[in-house]
Amino acid sequence: MSENIKLVLVSCCAPCSAGAIKQLTCGEIPGIDDFIVLFFNPNIYPESEYTKRMNEQIKYCEKMGVKYKIGEYDHDAWRAAVRGLEAEPERGSRCSACFAYRFEYAKRFARENGYDAVASVLGVSRHKDQSQVDAAAESAPGEIKYIPIKWDEGLRQKINRESDFYRQNYCGCEFSVKSPSPSEGGTAISGGVVVIKNNKYSYPVLFAMLTIHPFTM
Ligand code: SF4
Repeated sequence: MSENIKLVLVSCCAPCSAGAIKQLTCGEIPGIDDFIVLFFNPNIYPESEYTKRMNEQIKYCEKMGVKYKIGEYDHDAWRAAVRGLEAEPERGSRCSACFAYRFEYAKRFARENGYDAVASVLGVSRHKDQSQVDAAAESAPGEIKYIPIKWDEGLRQKINRESDFYRQNYCGCEFSVKSPSPSEGGTAISGGVVVIKNNKYSYPVLFAMLTIHPFTM
């Protein structure tokens, strides 16, 4: 890797980015001279969930003393970018479009702010396909190069075990929320509403009711 790179680290949340931020802070990644954490996640729904993840990201960046930038939150624009792909499964083409949308923004941010390259932690969760993330990053419009850094997963898990991070139980968008199992009396239906034991709940209410299991570990 060439020297003196100013890097934009694309992050989805604190639990996924903790190890990468630690490695970059300690100078463990050769050639990286400077970096900033970019939190641009308009895919997250509802906004209250977005705010929780954003606040946790800010808290960790400030604790580590690193620069960060919070991108705009426009979920309607993100919905337009994945229109027609709503029913795709996780790891399917909706996710490729979602990754590409975020990387296009990241490359533009890098170019406009004097950074040379982007890297990300979008593929570190065991629920994600790193090769899909890499392909989306490479193909996203923008002249800024993408560096597919392989982060230290052991370090990330160690920091997570030692931290009290808020941990989500779904990837981010409304299409990735896990509906209650049939034994719990749940049936997902369309229109942003889920039925549990004959009661209807909107997604935001349902999210507040679900037991939180870590998505990222
Ligand atoms: S499941 Fe995650 S990666 Fe896929 S579209 Fe939804 S928010 Fe984006």
